[in-house]
Amino acid sequence: MPPRIVELDSLEAGPRPDLKELLPVLADVLRRGAVDPLRLEDGRRVAEEDRRLYWALKVLGVRRAPVGDGEPVDLEALGLYEDISPSPLHVYGSTLELLYRGWPTPLVKLRSLSGGGRRVWAKLEWYNPFSMSVKDRIGWYMVVKAFEDGWRGTLVYEATSTNTGMALASMAAIFGFRVRLYLPKTIQRASDILLTALGAEVVRKEGQLTVELIDEVREDAERAGAYHINQFENDYNFMVHLRYTAKELDLQLRYAGVRPKAIIGGLGTSGHMAAISFYFKNRYGGSVRIYGVEPAPGETIPGIRRVETGMKWIHWVEVDGIVDVTRDEAIEALLAVARRDGILPGLSSGAVAAAYMKLVERGELDEGDYVVVFPDNGFKYVEQLQDFFRRRGVL
Ligand code: PLP
Repeated sequence: MPPRIVELDSLEAGPRPDLKELLPVLADVLRRGAVDPLRLEDGRRVAEEDRRLYWALKVLGVRRAPVGDGEPVDLEALGLYEDISPSPLHVYGSTLELLYRGWPTPLVKLRSLSGGGRRVWAKLEWYNPFSMSVKDRIGWYMVVKAFEDGWRGTLVYEATSTNTGMALASMAAIFGFRVRLYLPKTIQRASDILLTALGAEVVRKEGQLTVELIDEVREDAERAGAYHINQFENDYNFMVHLRYTAKELDLQLRYAGVRPKAIIGGLGTSGHMAAISFYFKNRYGGSVRIYGVEPAPGETIPGIRRVETGMKWIHWVEVDGIVDVTRDEAIEALLAVARRDGILPGLSSGAVAAAYMKLVERGELDEGDYVVVFPDNGFKYVEQLQDFFRRRGVL
């Protein structure tokens, strides 16, 4: 007999276990593509032994669950992909909707990087409305989940290289709280203007975005009674990318009839690439390789950092390689994309494009389809582009 199917929200379960505790169950659900019926106590309460499975389904954004006795039920039939429901004519009732009903962000085949039997698909994360970057996803999710988890404060502190700060400043405007942002001195000056325009308070700090700076922000927040939302440790960062970014990329690739051989992306907090690795490695096995991109030693590329500077989630997942890129290599690659495809990627997107080119040169990528994740576009980085052109005697 097939099990009964009910709305997941009609069930009750104990508190959500820590993300790390949920990972084996999340992996199992993605690997099997099917869900065993949840056992219930008195009608709607999930039995303790199935609490992790219930929360794994919640974290993945699955809508319905099988209950009672019977065979496992297909994950898609339970609404795995129903989170992704774009407004077809792009009409939105609020700017928040503009974010999540604007998803999926586009996936576009690039002429500039394709060739030699390889097709390269770029996921354009600058089609997010607030920071025009991948960081809108975490700014939104960390804030709405903080509210769901009971936060009622009025002040948020965060260390940022701009994009998370912009996303948080937008959330602050929409929900009515204040935000104080700590930016490393190495970041372009335009950021102060953009963040101030959005109503945030900006503090500049010496050096780069290091563990020490994050600790300082934590201490300042404690003293001020503010909430340090901390994208570097906040598991909603990984979770939003698992539930939306990775899942929508999967759906887009299926729609295009594409089975990628590898996905390449930059590492800052490691949130988006760790979630993409976890999702694709479990759902499609080792057939999809994952490459992370970091700045070469001594180089600064806004938004990405070296793995050894301390990252959380990337160490929980499988990665097939890390590629080092210099800033000039990143700029050369973004210009190559701009001048063939007519779109202007940002510096970390350029780093991802450069990493793809290096992997091709090394002979690591044979014929087939590849995905590059482009976190933002070039409009915030005119200062770095100007410096590059001046050094080359172009401007
Ligand atoms: N690229 C840019 C421009 C970013 O702003 C960020 C994050 O700050 C990243 C890449 C890295 O993304 P993640 O933090 O998910 O690793």
